[in-house]
Amino acid sequence: MRVVLFYLMITCVIFGCDKKEKIKVSNIKNEDGRIIKVKIGIDSNKISSEWKAALLKRKSTSELDSISKIIKHITKEEQDWLKLIESKTKRWNAFRDSLKVPFQNIKLQDTIFILLGYHGGDDAFTFQNKTICLDVNALYNSYGSAKDTVNDNRIDRFFAHEFTHLLHKQWAKKNKLEINTFKDRIFWECITEGFGMYRSMSPKWFPIKDSLSETSKNTFKVLYPIFTERIIEVSTKSNFTSEEENRLHTNLSRGSMKKKWGALPVAVWLALEAKGNDENLIKWVNKGPDALIPLAEKYLINESKTAFDKFLNNN
Ligand SMILES: [Zn+2]
Repeated sequence: MRVVLFYLMITCVIFGCDKKEKIKVSNIKNEDGRIIKVKIGIDSNKISSEWKAALLKRKSTSELDSISKIIKHITKEEQDWLKLIESKTKRWNAFRDSLKVPFQNIKLQDTIFILLGYHGGDDAFTFQNKTICLDVNALYNSYGSAKDTVNDNRIDRFFAHEFTHLLHKQWAKKNKLEINTFKDRIFWECITEGFGMYRSMSPKWFPIKDSLSETSKNTFKVLYPIFTERIIEVSTKSNFTSEEENRLHTNLSRGSMKKKWGALPVAVWLALEAKGNDENLIKWVNKGPDALIPLAEKYLINESKTAFDKFLNNN
């Protein structure tokens, strides 16, 4: 099974520190033994072998070689991010039960690691089945000082997003999900990044009772036609050139929020389904990538709805 690799590549890099910092971990256990540990991916002013391993599938060999040769001292700003994240482990450990609600019978390992890097990566991504990687340099470059109040809550939401990806990886393993075609990969990314974004999007995107927020409503005037056109094309063709794949995949879950044609609609639809109770999302998790069509059928409107219904009737 060629599987989940694509998904591993999707998500959302850096490190710096001394050897003595490398062994520093935050040991705050839940009563039941579950724990979140921070590990520093910096070794003698270079990226550590562990951080390099986390980047392996995300970089070309030559890129990774040059990244691992760079000698760099961690900056004050990067250290601020590192301290902020280290201060969060107890709080994040306490999030685990509520983040797990949509994932019935899915169990992660008791120890989850937060691996901190200081260059080479995206701001946040997962590695294998128990590690969330955060790049303090990318975080500083994208969101500014760790001391900005807005970043305190933002990093909590990023944790929730990545932890949800770990849960989804475990779900895929348990359910022997096979991802073979381009269509499979696109559908799975819409669902996993939609769930991730449901955990990380800011309040302005959430519905107000049963209605879309003004921000979502205005954004979806642009995104729904893109979503509809791309999902229909992905579903009705079987061979794609790499240029076509790139064009169709662009901005599915990356780039600015307003452009995320796959992840953002799904996140908002999930919020409409949840109605404040995440138990309502269990059935959507359990549909796997097949959740995409019924969600779209239910929530698309206007010309997008018409075009989508026509596609469903013909297929
Ligand atoms: Zn993600």
